[in-house]
Amino acid sequence: MFDKAAGPEVLKQHNRQLVMSAIEAHTPVSRARLARYTKLSRTSISQIVDELLPTGIIRETGESVLTGGRPGLLLELNADAWHALGVELRDTEWVVVITNLAGKICRQLNIPAEYKSPEDTFRTLGQKLAAIIKQTEYKLLPAVGVGVPGIVDEEAGVIIQSEDRGWVDVPVRRLLEKEISLRALVINRHIAGGLAESRYGAGAGKSHVIYVGVDTGVVAALLIDGQLYKGHAYGSGQIGHITAVPDGPLCSCGNRGCLELVASGRALVRLYGEKAGLSGNTGSITVESICQAAMRGEKIALDCLEEMAGHLGIAIANLINIFNPNGVVIGGSVLQHNDLLFNMIKKVIEQRTLKYHLSRTTLSPGHFRHNAGSVGTAALVLDHKLGLLFNHERAVHIQIKGAPIREKSRT
Ligand SMILES: [Zn+2]
Repeated sequence: MFDKAAGPEVLKQHNRQLVMSAIEAHTPVSRARLARYTKLSRTSISQIVDELLPTGIIRETGESVLTGGRPGLLLELNADAWHALGVELRDTEWVVVITNLAGKICRQLNIPAEYKSPEDTFRTLGQKLAAIIKQTEYKLLPAVGVGVPGIVDEEAGVIIQSEDRGWVDVPVRRLLEKEISLRALVINRHIAGGLAESRYGAGAGKSHVIYVGVDTGVVAALLIDGQLYKGHAYGSGQIGHITAVPDGPLCSCGNRGCLELVASGRALVRLYGEKAGLSGNTGSITVESICQAAMRGEKIALDCLEEMAGHLGIAIANLINIFNPNGVVIGGSVLQHNDLLFNMIKKVIEQRTLKYHLSRTTLSPGHFRHNAGSVGTAALVLDHKLGLLFNHERAVHIQIKGAPIREKSRT
């Protein structure tokens, strides 16, 4: 939250962000209306607009309105003036996107990736990104959003731990910034997916969104009043490690019967192997082949999806009862093949959620398929655009909830 004792520079950044957000929300908009929306003085609006115009991030439309007897040009977001680069590390590939300022995907690249040590992974990624940055025709904001597995210290740009990969204390920002000249903004890849769905996808226009990404693990992103809830120390949303089966198998986290052991991509393949009597030999079985078999009506495949949906449905119903969202989006690679699993999960949620909560929310499959994480990381860069363009020492996205900070009256 904004600290009033933080000084005039922070006040300036806050008000600049406030004006930028109002332009984005009400584009095209007059200076007079901006003053009304932000409750800042006309003089402040003029000063801030005069700072924003030279960056190209906004422009005058050429259309004028009469405000208080004086004609004034309308202002709008100049969506193609700058672009954001985002990348998500998925199990077998990196998905790289470049979006414009409105979040529209202008370019997407899928780069096959091998499972390597963290140092090799981020060195190679940095080299690939350096080549993309060099070749692109788009004017990029000076940062790249990076979606990674695990719990991420976003302030430091470090993966604290990734149960999936067995990584601990990986300094992603430092490793990447050795290879590229852009600042690396690091975030959990599913949290980024939630950001993408909430901004531009199935959760767009909703104030309180829960996004659940089902992949090799299961992670929930919580967006409260449009802002990501990160918990006390970036550990929020780790629903993959809530207990689903009290006496279930041992998890890498040390607990037993964690949700992601019974309801993830890996769990689905293992479960299918067990039910089909393959005694651990699941070589050619994939999540995709199981989903296709289920579509053809194969009983074992359908049973596996039902079992998984039961666990996920209960976990998500619990989240809905706790957080009372108005939008719930379920995505991730396991759901991208068809809507069968989504519909099964939906049925369980409808049975297990309080009617009050259920009647006040929507349940949707993810709008983005395999690029939710990368679009979300680009959105993270966009959140920092003013900090990046105005060279704040640390690019901080200042929350603009609540009343604007009043300027000191001039005497
Ligand atoms: Zn666990």
